[in-house]
Amino acid sequence: MSLADPKSLVEYTATLDCIHCGLCLRTCPTFQLTGNEASSPRGRVYLMRGVAEGHIAGDDPSYRDELDFCLGCRHCESVCPAGVRYGEMLEFARDRAERATHRPWPEALGRFVGFQVVLPNRAFLRWSMNALGFAQRSGFLKRVAALAGARKQALLSLPLVPPKAEREPLPLVTPARGELRGEVTVLEGCVMPELFGRVNRATVDVLAAIGFATRTCGGHACCGALHAHNGELGRAKELAKDTIVAFDGVIGSDGEPLAVIVNSAGCGAHMKAYGHLLADDAAWRERAEAFSRRVFDFAEFVAQRAPPDWRPRVDPSTFGRITYDDPCHLCHGQQIRKEPRALLDRVAGLERVELPHSEQCCGSAGIYSMLRPEDSRAVFEPKLAALDEVRADTLVTANPGCHMQWDSGLDRAGRDVRVVHLAEVLAEASRSS
Ligand code: SF4
Ligand code: SF4
Repeated sequence: MSLADPKSLVEYTATLDCIHCGLCLRTCPTFQLTGNEASSPRGRVYLMRGVAEGHIAGDDPSYRDELDFCLGCRHCESVCPAGVRYGEMLEFARDRAERATHRPWPEALGRFVGFQVVLPNRAFLRWSMNALGFAQRSGFLKRVAALAGARKQALLSLPLVPPKAEREPLPLVTPARGELRGEVTVLEGCVMPELFGRVNRATVDVLAAIGFATRTCGGHACCGALHAHNGELGRAKELAKDTIVAFDGVIGSDGEPLAVIVNSAGCGAHMKAYGHLLADDAAWRERAEAFSRRVFDFAEFVAQRAPPDWRPRVDPSTFGRITYDDPCHLCHGQQIRKEPRALLDRVAGLERVELPHSEQCCGSAGIYSMLRPEDSRAVFEPKLAALDEVRADTLVTANPGCHMQWDSGLDRAGRDVRVVHLAEVLAEASRSS
């Protein structure tokens, strides 16, 4: 047998890890929707192997569609007894398929502008959000959406751009409150400062409350996670290097680079994997691994480093009955499950209930909800039913994509449930204490 592309040898070997047990099938949202083997993790691994072996063309439309249909939620990894690294394989397969596929020029232009121009650039991100905010307020977006065919609902469900006052970047330095216990830096992110500036502010507030001064990284915008997840591995590698250089330049008072706190599960999972992403680059491999060891999810860091007697308190009426929904890239991507729950349970005055099937994907999956709105909504439906079951007043998440998906899904369904980031709950509680 000869491989279609010798460079795919490592990934081809990875496909051989699958022992065809089928344990992943029942957890996979796309298999649940269709019942088709090709839309399951096992089926997609089989297709990837077919491409590596040259039995299936790299631009075969049905192969391409199955790659696109996958949410990249990595639930299959959590249950796989053979340790199949599905997320890495999907990134590689999408990148190869992207290179093999000829897209119509409007689509290619849209991808170029989004991935190469806007996302990596703080100024372009700001202008884009200004334009989107204007289009939303003036009604222009509704007129554009009416002409957008299948993309109409995706355009209309874009989150409302907050007023400029809420979109200010974090200060370069935020001091600790009380005794100084350490210094950290935070990833502000690409869309976070524009759409969820309040979450970034809550993040540094909580860090200050537990004794950590925060320094930010100035104009840095993008860690490259969306690129890696969407077939742009070359650009993802460049952005990983930019990110490492930017954060290695934020030095603490002891002369060492600081721990990097990330409040977006998708970005955190990706940054913790820079060592793997740059493994074949001898000049960067060790530096990337060292960087990844300094990356902490917000919940992970606060749960580990908050003083044992830190017990913030809220008035029970502030959030009502709350429930926590696991972002896929936190539970499946970073194996962080108990820390967010433990932190919520530390807050006096909160009543927390478990959300059934909270490790199931909500259908957001980065830009999936915009690219495949109908599939995204179908994946969301069981999540809404689970939320209805527990009758929560507030849903807590830890990822901006999930936050938007819940906001728009609840709005569509007419449910009066508030969606907040974990950092917002803890910040409110630490302010009220
Ligand atoms: S990543 Fe999610 S959607 Fe994709 S194959 Fe695995 S379980 Fe299914
Ligand atoms: S659980 Fe793992 S080994 Fe079993 S079929 Fe799925 S991918 Fe293959």
